[in-house]
Amino acid sequence: MTPHEFVYTGRAARVVFGSGSLASVASEVRSLGARSALVLCGKEQRALGDTIANQLGSLCAGLVDRATMHVPAALVAEVRELAGTLRADCVIAAGGGSAIGLAKALALELPLPILAVPTTYSGSEMTPIYGITEGKLKRTGSDLRVLPGTVIYDPDLTESLPAAMSLTSGINAIAHAAEGLYARDANPVTSLMAQDGIAALARSLPAIVAHPGDKAARADAFYGSWLCGMVLGSVGMALHHKLCHTLGGTFNLPHAPTHTIVLAHALAYNAEAAPEAMKRIAQALNHHDAAQGIYELARDHGAPVSLAAIGMDEASLDLAADLACRNPYWNPRPIEREPIRALLQRAFEGAPPSPQ
Ligand code: NAD
Repeated sequence: MTPHEFVYTGRAARVVFGSGSLASVASEVRSLGARSALVLCGKEQRALGDTIANQLGSLCAGLVDRATMHVPAALVAEVRELAGTLRADCVIAAGGGSAIGLAKALALELPLPILAVPTTYSGSEMTPIYGITEGKLKRTGSDLRVLPGTVIYDPDLTESLPAAMSLTSGINAIAHAAEGLYARDANPVTSLMAQDGIAALARSLPAIVAHPGDKAARADAFYGSWLCGMVLGSVGMALHHKLCHTLGGTFNLPHAPTHTIVLAHALAYNAEAAPEAMKRIAQALNHHDAAQGIYELARDHGAPVSLAAIGMDEASLDLAADLACRNPYWNPRPIEREPIRALLQRAFEGAPPSPQ
């Protein structure tokens, strides 16, 4: 049923989507009113960075290929100085959440519009959320200045993403949409995007695992991750994201696999409290049950389903439960330590999801 009262805030970004769309990078830089673009990428995306630099020709101010996970503050300071020296008037982030995160950290301090060229399904390119790590502390926040002004989604660039990473990155995207469907500030528009985003990823990920070069499936999955990213950038996240931030931040578990393992259990925890959302998630998954559908999508296509398999120590589950219950995000079902501890045990063992 459509809610009768809601607030919807549109996030302005120009999206250029399609196979071969990277060819428009120079004209998109000009459309942003820029003349001197600093290209940012990680070491592994250097070839893509070079391609972009070549296409830009005289519009390229320089290339930095040192983007890494967690956006270290020292690197941000170095690149900020370089951007000033080179008189860059825009940044191009080419790669996954790490390259986009570096561009966002720069845009927080310098008036540099961001053109993002994502190559994973993280969805960061559609959100105003940033994070910067100093020592062991990650400072996160939300600021509209870091929202990319233009995003080029060229599905050809995702063909090199290995099958296993595509699957976990895709389920990470589904997690944004699933929690967006039961968010306190959900609205009819983000819910449409969430349901269609989940459906696009659920039908394309199995095809990608079977044939990573399947162009139609790659386009479908990228379309889905765009929609899921818009949901993440528009409404609040709940228990699932709190659990993943705790597990990733304190126990250093890998981002996308952690999301992949936890999501089914978080949905089972919330199932009774958010029946409408579960119905829409299940419909999108083409399964009778939302939580079980996610569990099977992961398990049946070779993704890890237990925290044990990705390096979690069983002795730390008590601490994880304590931390997850501290300063909880809003959630449709109250956060209670005992059921959360039981949820973590099931996730640790790789057991099927259960409401607790
Ligand atoms: P990432 O950018 O670190 O990429 C993960 C790995 O995939 C890297 O080794 C990278 O080299 C490789 N890779 C990327 N694209 C590839 C391709 N096309 N082919 C082959 N290899 C490729 O991380 P990610 O998974 O994209 O994103 C996760 C990070 O982004 C986390 O740090 C997370 O906190 C952050 N994130 C932020 C937001 C936000 O809104 N701020 C949203 C989602 C994720």
